[in-house]
Amino acid sequence: MTAREIVRYPAPVLSTPAEAVSEITAEIESLFDDLIATMYAENGVGVAAPQIGVGLRAIVIDADIENRGERILKLLNPEIVATEGEVIWPEGCLSIPGLVLDVKRHAHVEVVALDEIGREIRVEGSSLLGVALQHEIDHLDGKVMLDRVSAIKRAMWRKKIAKHGYPVEMAGSEKEERKQALG
Ligand SMILES: [Zn+2]
Repeated sequence: MTAREIVRYPAPVLSTPAEAVSEITAEIESLFDDLIATMYAENGVGVAAPQIGVGLRAIVIDADIENRGERILKLLNPEIVATEGEVIWPEGCLSIPGLVLDVKRHAHVEVVALDEIGREIRVEGSSLLGVALQHEIDHLDGKVMLDRVSAIKRAMWRKKIAKHGYPVEMAGSEKEERKQALG
């Protein structure tokens, strides 16, 4: 189990759609171990494989902030199959440290995926879990939260990041800042 270095935006791997996992191998097992170690080392709610430079459709999430480690989701090839409602959530991202942005998300999502031994599972989530699922699946599709805000805001933050680097000093959220980065 090795905590890996988080790749920062705008690294190309973060804007490249990841490949589906077709076989559970020892590499996938150790990928999950590293993702989990990285998630806890970085105090994130989740981490997606592209964030540690691996272009595979694998994510881990632990959205239980009070009881960390009790319910770790390890998902391969996750797909959103149903959605409900809408929510604006102030999101942080480990790959864009310091920035918190209000992102419009589905209030509730249903996801179908494979677990770490290749069984099909269904996960439903709202609030933090629901938003984390959408945030991490976005990473698998080559999207970051900046791709979910207006072109004007995106250009502004890109420019600031290019000029001043990380951490981004000013939060972009109009809501109360939450320190927890999603992943
Ligand atoms: Zn992220």
